[in-house]
Amino acid sequence: MTNEELWQSALNEIELSISKANFITWLKGTRIISNTEGKIVISVPNGFAKEWLENKYNAYILKALRNIQPDIKSATCLIATPKEEYLPRKESMMDAIIAPQKNDSRIEKKNFTVNIENNLNPKYTFENFIIGGNNELAHAACVAVSQNLGKIYNPLFIYGGVGLGKTHLIQSIGNKILEKNPAFKVKYITSERFTSNLIDALQNQKINEFKEYYQKMDILIIDDIQFISGKEKTQEEFFHIFNYLYQLNKQIVLSSDRPPKSIQILEERLRSRFEGGMIADVSSPDLETRLAILRKKVADEELEISEDALLFVATNIKNNIRELEGALNRLIVSSQLTGAEITVAFAKNQLSELISSGIKKGITPKHIIKAVSAFYDIDQNDLVLKNRKKEIVRPRQVAMYLLRSEIDFSYPGIGEKLGGRDHTTAIHAFEKISKNLLTDAKLNEEIAQIKNQLYKLD
Ligand code: ADP
Ligand code: MG
Repeated sequence: MTNEELWQSALNEIELSISKANFITWLKGTRIISNTEGKIVISVPNGFAKEWLENKYNAYILKALRNIQPDIKSATCLIATPKEEYLPRKESMMDAIIAPQKNDSRIEKKNFTVNIENNLNPKYTFENFIIGGNNELAHAACVAVSQNLGKIYNPLFIYGGVGLGKTHLIQSIGNKILEKNPAFKVKYITSERFTSNLIDALQNQKINEFKEYYQKMDILIIDDIQFISGKEKTQEEFFHIFNYLYQLNKQIVLSSDRPPKSIQILEERLRSRFEGGMIADVSSPDLETRLAILRKKVADEELEISEDALLFVATNIKNNIRELEGALNRLIVSSQLTGAEITVAFAKNQLSELISSGIKKGITPKHIIKAVSAFYDIDQNDLVLKNRKKEIVRPRQVAMYLLRSEIDFSYPGIGEKLGGRDHTTAIHAFEKISKNLLTDAKLNEEIAQIKNQLYKLD
């Protein structure tokens, strides 16, 4: 196994244990640069990443590496500028593990490759998308657009938290259109890639070609459009491409982690364009939908897993579908490696670190709100009601952090519980406290105390 393969497999596993935001923040651009007698050296882009990976995430990293290569002794980080950006692959752990078994025909059909021209991954289809209350409207809008290109909802804007199926849905539109009419010009691109291609084009005096290329499209799908926030030049060029396509009744589809009104530093004229079509959100799936998604995956892979075990997974992995799939993949892989049947006990054992300790202990949001307000000596109502008193800011952020870290509460749920805020406020609070914990001893002490109190509660 090469270092790259080892790291890739480890990353696939680490991705399941930490939040997507942290995964991208700290593990993007990392690679193994040497593995000498089980002593691993990982190159990282900066001192922050070194600190996080060596302190906070070292246990995860070692565990993931040892699962693959049991004799790993240590993992240390070295600050180095990577020669080329090494991004974790998009495929699931399942794909990575099963890909080499070439002569298994059942698996062969799972080797989806992304089309290099339109960037679509053929695995994202409406046919394998499970509809639930959380995504019903978004799904219906996507299907409608694929049947009436450029005619009904333009642009179509899909938003919601990570791992909830946005990319799957918007790529399904592209795949459906090509299935019906292979001559159509479809382009899927993330806004980050769009921006970096735009910068290249500007530097190489190819901006006209760049624009012409996009203006030829029948449908342009841009994923994670929130990343153009603050990028003036990108917004300007995108605005022109948008208008050009729009006037020709060409379809534009956008996704974002938040609604247009919450994208900061977005030019007003773009914001009003985004709001001019159809906006639909995806939210966290309910238990029934989670179970249906698991059942579908199991059926597609022709696997046998007991209903009880699926119910256990669906009950305990709640926040998003990517984590749900990750948990299932993990069970499948460990059962393949050990030959053990996937029972509830097996699932409990394998997924124990994915299930937050607070959930296991029966801690509820009420307990957390009570403990935080008691600690800071403030009124519980101040924490949960909409109010912007200065002295409430930090306690509220701490409460948001604990709701996530201890009981894995969903971001929209946290926002709603604490002051009726947007989920992005909750994400911001979580990331801010996580980051401050690295350097702020007082904050560490405060949180430790609150947790002590919390775990004493019955
Ligand atoms: P997002 O773009 O919102 O972060 P993705 O579209 O990447 O989320 O979804 C994460 C994973 O979950 C993907 O593998 C996707 O296929 C799967 N998924 C999401 N929603 C559904 C669904 N309703 N039915 C089946 N699979 C889903
Ligand atoms: Mg996505």
